[in-house]
Amino acid sequence: MTRPDATHILMTGPMMAYAADQLKARFTVHEYWKAEDKAAFLREVADKVRGIAGGGHVRIDGALFDALPKLEMIANFGVGYDNVDAAEAGRRGLVVSNTPDVLTDEVADLAIGLLIATVRQLPQVDRYLREGKWLKAPYPLTTSLRKRKVGIVGLGRIGKAVAQRVEAFGLPVVYHGRSRQADVAYRYYPSLVEMAADVDTLISVAPGGASTHHIINAEVLKALGPDGILINVGRGTVVDEQALIAALRDKTILSAGLDVFEDEPRVPAELIAIDHVVLLPHVGSASVHTREQMGQLVVDNLVSWFEGKGPLTPVAETPWPKG
Ligand code: NDP
Repeated sequence: MTRPDATHILMTGPMMAYAADQLKARFTVHEYWKAEDKAAFLREVADKVRGIAGGGHVRIDGALFDALPKLEMIANFGVGYDNVDAAEAGRRGLVVSNTPDVLTDEVADLAIGLLIATVRQLPQVDRYLREGKWLKAPYPLTTSLRKRKVGIVGLGRIGKAVAQRVEAFGLPVVYHGRSRQADVAYRYYPSLVEMAADVDTLISVAPGGASTHHIINAEVLKALGPDGILINVGRGTVVDEQALIAALRDKTILSAGLDVFEDEPRVPAELIAIDHVVLLPHVGSASVHTREQMGQLVVDNLVSWFEGKGPLTPVAETPWPKG
């Protein structure tokens, strides 16, 4: 149901009905992701669209901005916004918002679940039982979380929530980022390689983009060492996937648990063929509860902007507040 309204919004990917219905009740919504001929679709809506509800695998960049001269605001579905060229949006005076905080606990929970699943090999153990192998012999003993030391890459909102949970498990926490955090007592490592050498468990919660591209590379994995476990719930591009595959194959590190990949939703066949890793299809925030909260924040940002009240959660690159 679409109620004609003066304000036209481009929806770049499917959204759950909870948020999509609210957008359709308030705005005239154009479902870009459904269009067969994207260029023709854009030409048709070009002089109307003032906002974008971002999501899906569509890149929101200068080419799309060029095609939408009336565009004012991009409300991204997700706290990570490497799918949006926010710097270019900023240069053009376009406002970009994301969905921070509402997903922090969910993603941190998932990171811990993935950590335990990887260390105690839960998916492999489950497969073992289903294949009837328990009838013949118990599952071989696994590695343990006990005695591990955790290094967090990207101690932001989610990184801190992961750190709190790791501490509750009785494990020491250290971190790497571009800068020392004033509000935490964990040891800070300006060098990622040095941190990797001092820990055996690396949890990456860093954002994507040029500054983090492949910062977890062959050198870092070598430093992590043969007991090393890598957990990545940040962005796939942070890890050099080919270097990781090589490190897993030749046992430079022990194992990995990955929720994100370099070229999603495509996952390299070499990675899928390795049994001693746990692979998840980017489900960090994917519960009904949290996706509803994220969808609500997308709606609320767009409504706030078009009511003249400004964005609720603008990203760092956005020119807001003005002046
Ligand atoms: P924040 O912005 O709060 O935290 C990001 C952290 O990364 C900051 O501490 C920042 O510290 C650090 N960082 C940024 N750039 C670099 C760099 N070049 N090298 C090292 N560290 C860096 O974001 P959130 O915690 O809310 O979210 C983090 C990321 O998690 C998102 O950007 C997204 O990619 C990912 N995510 C994944 C989900 C999933 O489903 N798997 C769901 C939600 C988010 P400093 O500035 O000091 O470097």
